[in-house]
Amino acid sequence: MRKLNFELVPDSCWYSNLRSILTKKQWDFIRHDAYDRANGRCMICGREVKRLEAHERWEYDEVNKVQKLVDVVAVCSMCHGAIHIGRSTLIGKGEIFENWYMRVNGITYSEMRSDLAKANIDHQRRNLIPEWQLDLTYLKRYVKEEN
Ligand SMILES: [Zn+2]
Repeated sequence: MRKLNFELVPDSCWYSNLRSILTKKQWDFIRHDAYDRANGRCMICGREVKRLEAHERWEYDEVNKVQKLVDVVAVCSMCHGAIHIGRSTLIGKGEIFENWYMRVNGITYSEMRSDLAKANIDHQRRNLIPEWQLDLTYLKRYVKEEN
């Protein structure tokens, strides 16, 4: 298990961005909760940073075609860029974030390339599933019980 992982979201996950499903108020509440838990430090690399970014973690059940939200974490922009390596590479910053990935995990270039190849294989296989069902049970923790 690595501290920092490449997390490639399937192309068919239209709703994988929580920001697009929730109201601004709801999303702000959730991300600020993550920032509070982080207490000024990136939850992945542990660096103290001025600005944290919220990152949604998903699990994929390929048999039942369910994309499940499992966590919302607060991370630094470097770790966030490495997580979304596909996007970072597209904007010409792949190498910067690949280096960061190696540094945070304490691994070699070939180990990093191997992780990336595995992430790409998972990504391509998950892309074959045309539609994912969304499981947002995780968000129930933020809903007040009405009695
Ligand atoms: Zn970090």
